[in-house]
Amino acid sequence: MTVVNATDYFQFVPSNPWLAVGWRDRAAITLPIAPYLERKGIGFIASGVEQIRPDVSQLQLENGETLDYDYLILATGPKLMFSEVEGAGPEGGFTHSVCTVDHAERAHEDFERLLENPGPVVIGAFQGASCFGPAYEYAFILDKALRKRKLRSKVPITFVNIFAAGVCVAIPPVEATPVPTGAPKTGYMIESMVTAIVHNIAAELEGKEANYKGSWHAICLADMGDRGAAFVALPQMPPRDVNWFAAGRWVHLAKIAFEKYFIRKMKKGTSEPVYEKYMMRALGIRRLE
Ligand SMILES: Cc1cc2nc3c(=O)[nH]c(=O)nc-3n(C[C@H](O)[C@H](O)[C@H](O)COP(=O)(O)OP(=O)(O)OC[C@H]3O[C@@H](n4cnc5c(N)ncnc54)[C@H](O)[C@@H]3O)c2cc1C
Repeated sequence: MTVVNATDYFQFVPSNPWLAVGWRDRAAITLPIAPYLERKGIGFIASGVEQIRPDVSQLQLENGETLDYDYLILATGPKLMFSEVEGAGPEGGFTHSVCTVDHAERAHEDFERLLENPGPVVIGAFQGASCFGPAYEYAFILDKALRKRKLRSKVPITFVNIFAAGVCVAIPPVEATPVPTGAPKTGYMIESMVTAIVHNIAAELEGKEANYKGSWHAICLADMGDRGAAFVALPQMPPRDVNWFAAGRWVHLAKIAFEKYFIRKMKKGTSEPVYEKYMMRALGIRRLE
């Protein structure tokens, strides 16, 4: 049995993000392959494979040797395609990577510079990436590493490819109130956020500008048991274009009807039936700005 590997060392890839912020060094996450395989009586060649010749069951190695095989197991990992995106990658590009130990070391060099001269950082994964986890990990790790040094406030971090909608979004309070309260986030407003996100992702995938904005319009039916109050606020946060309010028994009935209607929509998987869209438009209420 012979193992062939392009490098003479093994790298524990998941620790690369730690290396990039100085929590590990290269020695801690790499090991020489040969001695460990030798102990098990397994041969090792540190060379890239240049060509596989299945017709003669042979490998052509980059070091000039050839190697015969009976069975061949291929496990060559990812081929990093920085060349697909102009300007990408640590070699000849303008971005860092934590995909290999070499890349992580370079990222660490610039991390040290960032500490000396803090500024904005953008983290993300390029189109075509299949493994997003490490980018998320790195965002959290960088956040922690900067907080440890009390520099987080000087480094705005933007994570591309992440969108957020709904109550998890931090919206500053509208005004100071005697009891501190946050800005209300109502259902239609959240639907408008989701609509904008979906349009933006679709636009990005088509290579177009992703500049859709949710309207943050609010329509609310507040129930009072046997009657209710309805309001329309366009947009929800003042200053508003429309401020409409009405009360009566019809609101209670409308809320019951809305409950049935919304649950039916959920079951059918229809977020905005065409008749809803046109009815809302007639009322001047749109999900997108
Ligand atoms: C930053 C980061 C963090 C990650 N964290 C996790 C995690 O926490 N948990 C998890 O499960 N997964 C994690 N992953 C994914 C995981 O590392 C990979 O799925 C795994 O390493 C893939 O194993 P592999 O054997 O297919 O390829 P690799 O580990 O990439 O190994 C491929 C080997 O093939 C060699 N090679 C390539 N081409 C040739 C050639 N022509 N000739 C000879 N040798 C060649 C390379 O030198 C390399 O040693 C992470 C990935 C990254 C980038």
